[in-house]
Amino acid sequence: MTNQAAVGILLFMGLTSLVQPALLSKINERQVLRTLRARGPQSRAEVARHSGISAPTASKAVESLLRAGLLEEGDADGDLRGRPARKLRLASETVQVLGLVIEAGHCRAVAAGLDGQLHESRETHFSTPETYESLLDIACSHAARLMHRPLITTLGMAISMPGLIDYRQGRGILSPNVPLTNQRSPGHDLTERLGIPVILIQESHALCLAERHYGAAKNMNDFAMLDVSTGIGLGVMSGGRLLTGHVGLAGEIGHITVEMDGRLCGCGNQGCLETVASDSTLAAMLSDRLQRKLSVTEVLALLENGELTADEELGQITRYLAVGLAAVINLFNPSTLFVHSRLFSADKALLTTLIAETGRRALPPSFAGCRIVQARGSKRQGAIAAIIDHLTESVVPVVMTDALSGHSTALRPRSLLSR
Ligand SMILES: [Zn+2]
Repeated sequence: MTNQAAVGILLFMGLTSLVQPALLSKINERQVLRTLRARGPQSRAEVARHSGISAPTASKAVESLLRAGLLEEGDADGDLRGRPARKLRLASETVQVLGLVIEAGHCRAVAAGLDGQLHESRETHFSTPETYESLLDIACSHAARLMHRPLITTLGMAISMPGLIDYRQGRGILSPNVPLTNQRSPGHDLTERLGIPVILIQESHALCLAERHYGAAKNMNDFAMLDVSTGIGLGVMSGGRLLTGHVGLAGEIGHITVEMDGRLCGCGNQGCLETVASDSTLAAMLSDRLQRKLSVTEVLALLENGELTADEELGQITRYLAVGLAAVINLFNPSTLFVHSRLFSADKALLTTLIAETGRRALPPSFAGCRIVQARGSKRQGAIAAIIDHLTESVVPVVMTDALSGHSTALRPRSLLSR
């Protein structure tokens, strides 16, 4: 061993021996939670093996998490020799978390255990109100109804919202399609009313988390999610981290200009991508053609039932969408680009056409290395994933004192900004 290495080890030992034991326990607990989240129910021996910590340490962490109510342990199927194997799992019978999805016309609230499983019976919805105060009142009463379950503790809630969200301040900044949340902090306001932690998650980020934890992106570190709904949003997971930018505003591909003097956008600019390639674009085009006001839901129902065709309109939307997809592929080099959209139900050939059009626009090597697939996750599932992330990843205290130098180092909390 070189002197330098020996000094390094001594310094490391000096530092670690002075790190609070409580901090190490928390780190081990987080590791156990991560293992169970990634692999599903496991025996204690499996938890120790897969979490990479010693069996006695893992056992201590498990006991602490069982006491805290974050884990449950029960009989699972017997092993091959017929012995019952006790399995640990994330708590789902005694605790729950809530997800609230705010969209332009519609809001949904849902409850789930820490396993993330959604149950239809624990879901409720309402029309998006006109004012922020009504939104708080109605969201609060729906959440309170979901929380009113005997012997079940509600640990927290995440709100999926469209538009720009400042994660540092926990505030909506600019939402062209749901402006009532502009300069508002529904996370903070609902925390006060409900008495549980409530956090915000941008809706494209919610879709990324849904796909990453419960969908087709489980083992992917580099993927992108294009959300084509009332507007167009983008979430990018790069190197296993969600790209948020400086304060959380990254990814607003819907507001890049594609038509110099195009239609006025909700953001104040003209000719943004989302004015020509969203599902509300389709509703606006068909309303113009049929000379009557149609909602997106009405248009999609007419197309699905074969009562209306819109080849020309869908063709135009697809060509513009391909410009957006090609930009994402060129900029971020994702291994998979998920597209989340209700438009797929209106046109079964849409994905094939979209892939072909994108191939014409993107750089050939980047396009060749990227799969384009339809997203399966939902914003509800993403909100649930976000609050579980928040609760299970934020067990580490934010400040650690380096006893050698006396400096306090702020450990970035494993929140959405550091993911
Ligand atoms: Zn815009």
